[in-house]
Amino acid sequence: MPHPKYIFITGGVVSSLGKGLTAASLGTLLEKRGLKVTLQKFDPYLNVDPGTMSPFQHGEVYVLDDGAETDLDLGHYERFTSAPLSKRNNLTTGQVYETVLMKERRGDYLGKTVQVIPHVTDEIKKRIREVAAESKCDVIMTEIGGTTGDIEGLPFLEAIRQFALEVGPENALFMHVTLIPYIKAAGELKSKPTQQSVAKLREIGIQPHILICRTEYPLDRDTRQKLSMFCNVQIDAVIEEMDVNHSIYEVPLMLEREKLDDLVCKHLRIENPKGDMSDWQSFIANLIAPKHRINLAVVGKYIEHQDAYKSIYESLVHAGGALATGVEITKIDSEDIESEGAAKFLEGMDGILVPGGFGSRGTEGKIMAAQFAREHKIPYLGLCLGMQIGVIEFCRNVLGLRDAHSTEFNEKSPHPVIALMNEQHDVVDKGGTMRLGSSPCHLVEGTKVREAYGQPVIDERHRHRYEVNNAYRARMEENGLTIAGTSPDGKLVEVIELKDHPWFVACQYHPEFKSKPNAAHPLFMGFVKAALAQH
Ligand code: GLN
Repeated sequence: MPHPKYIFITGGVVSSLGKGLTAASLGTLLEKRGLKVTLQKFDPYLNVDPGTMSPFQHGEVYVLDDGAETDLDLGHYERFTSAPLSKRNNLTTGQVYETVLMKERRGDYLGKTVQVIPHVTDEIKKRIREVAAESKCDVIMTEIGGTTGDIEGLPFLEAIRQFALEVGPENALFMHVTLIPYIKAAGELKSKPTQQSVAKLREIGIQPHILICRTEYPLDRDTRQKLSMFCNVQIDAVIEEMDVNHSIYEVPLMLEREKLDDLVCKHLRIENPKGDMSDWQSFIANLIAPKHRINLAVVGKYIEHQDAYKSIYESLVHAGGALATGVEITKIDSEDIESEGAAKFLEGMDGILVPGGFGSRGTEGKIMAAQFAREHKIPYLGLCLGMQIGVIEFCRNVLGLRDAHSTEFNEKSPHPVIALMNEQHDVVDKGGTMRLGSSPCHLVEGTKVREAYGQPVIDERHRHRYEVNNAYRARMEENGLTIAGTSPDGKLVEVIELKDHPWFVACQYHPEFKSKPNAAHPLFMGFVKAALAQH
């Protein structure tokens, strides 16, 4: 293709419409047509990255290979496409201002008054070009976080308006994801909120080419016509996106039925023929009619928040799909285990998963869950903090080291079995200072983990500060805990497993960031298989 094509995705009416999912799904359809696609997210908040935000605020913090801590929409992008993503693919207002102010201090603006237009908008446009240059993709999709009408989103909208003008109409497309509410009393779908949000966009100078209408009920002809006329969008560009019945992985198929990819290609003068979606279809078929069912417990402290463990839930779905197994997830607050005991919640479960986390609240409950899994031989998967919990439990209850703990939770523990890495001792800043991103891990021959991966060296993503304390390794190994994987120099413990247990596996890294619907992650596969055997 002579020129990369640019697709901009905005959102109207309310947040949480699944813009990221919609963008990612269009990415799937375009990739299936043989196009190289990448996706980028602009977040209007002032944090430099979401790494310092609580999962209660913002859901999961997603981590890329290069160690960037990003918005969870980048997780959708990676699960739905093979887009090459780096820290450039997530830009926040905080980053934009950080850069602009640094340039101002350095004198780069040569005495000019520094302003939102052009200096801030130039910085935003530069980021789009950088992603285009770095990724060498045919199509660059840029999603603008937030809702049209937000004050903080304005500089981003102004920047994409200018950008589209610069690259020309056949190279840029605006797609607006909006809500069509259903009013029960009137028995009607309502188009007015969308008309108003499109009016807001047009005020800034953006005329969307496509409306993606999130709706509980099918869009009737009348509603489509109204939306077309009042929003100044061709009628065949009014796309219905209903709530899915079974799984988010249905969204690409739903959008394909609405001919979204045809429309996009026509507008952008892309001639690649339709792709083959049969692998995607068969994955969905497995999800819809599973042959087996299992019940898994996820024991965490952010369980009320839908999105806090997003990638973990998705990875379980991927493994379930691959094994034709319906995975029922019971979310358990570890503080409830502390007050009422593990048995009440965990008896009868086919598997127990303890995810990552920070801060001491709820850790004792997680330790009780790990103990329950070990003693009752229930398959266990521990991720990051979930591995540290497994180690603490083993040291306390098998090695008999009373009060063994992580120094994150008890600095004065007589047995600091999890402790700070040397290079972390003097770090005071919180943002971006953990061990972050992808690094290699060597697996030990003859372990369950080595068998699950089918290869001796793996690369996995990290996001943590604390490590297994090497002073306790020998004692653990002598008593039935296997160090199944370490950093190449052998100094950092990456994976542990228990000898006398069907599947007690825990890792310091985050396998959930590398699982895909048609390529379920080996550790989730192993865990679901073991849970199935348990069932
Ligand atoms: N709080 C732990 C650490 O910093 C675990 C982090 C995590 O689970 N992501 O090491």
